[in-house]
Amino acid sequence: MWTRDNAPPSVGDPSSQTERATLVLAPNANAWTFEGTNTWLLAEPGADVCAVVDPGPDDDAHLAAILAAAGDRRIVGVWVTHAHTDHAELAGRLARVTGAPLRGSGRRVAGRPFQPGEVLPVGPLEVRVLATPGHTGDSVCFHLPAEGSVLTGDTVLGRGAPIVEPGRLGQFFASLDLLSEVLAPAGSVILPGHGPVLPDPLPELGRRRQARQRRVDQVARAMADGLTEPDALVDHMYPDLSPDLRDAARISVEASIAHVQTARS
Ligand SMILES: [Zn+2]
Repeated sequence: MWTRDNAPPSVGDPSSQTERATLVLAPNANAWTFEGTNTWLLAEPGADVCAVVDPGPDDDAHLAAILAAAGDRRIVGVWVTHAHTDHAELAGRLARVTGAPLRGSGRRVAGRPFQPGEVLPVGPLEVRVLATPGHTGDSVCFHLPAEGSVLTGDTVLGRGAPIVEPGRLGQFFASLDLLSEVLAPAGSVILPGHGPVLPDPLPELGRRRQARQRRVDQVARAMADGLTEPDALVDHMYPDLSPDLRDAARISVEASIAHVQTARS
């Protein structure tokens, strides 16, 4: 989920992928998901096993596309970066169809939760779990040290700003710090849950952090001027907001309010 505020221009090509991560774009494009959810298939080249990250919406054609992308390779893991429907709805069915264990937990996902730093083997491929709360409490990213790529789910989108749950903005900033450490080596790349691959992560993460901080500062100033109602703050900060993004803007503003109040207390 995202808001259009501070959306940078599109970077790279949405069909980009890496040697070990294959993109299967889900057919659920809308105002919240850009072109659709990026379902990722992870495998070491030449290996006979793979894992599926963020299976996406419960859609027959998308399920068939995932199985086709896996080809002869056995799916040995079905993982979700977080439990939002557009990432996780198909997870249970894909796990049943393939017999692969489902990992990740939340209201709509009944898998075993990930542990921070946990290493998930996919045959010879090693995938590390990064705990990155903020967008949701259960948000994780998946790091492929062999190629320096990180699957970021909705924690870092291909463009624009994800919604951060009110009360989690401090966690969100800490998660961006963790990602900046992991993505510091040259050649690192972000494989997001929606939108295009980001091949130059560090400056991009810096811009995202600054844009978010500017919104927090804006809310802090407006609150100091006496604007305290979330709806009034939304009108003040997003004068040209399209109606379908009002809920998203309101959640973002509430997150900023909670962050400003925490900083004050
Ligand atoms: Zn989400």
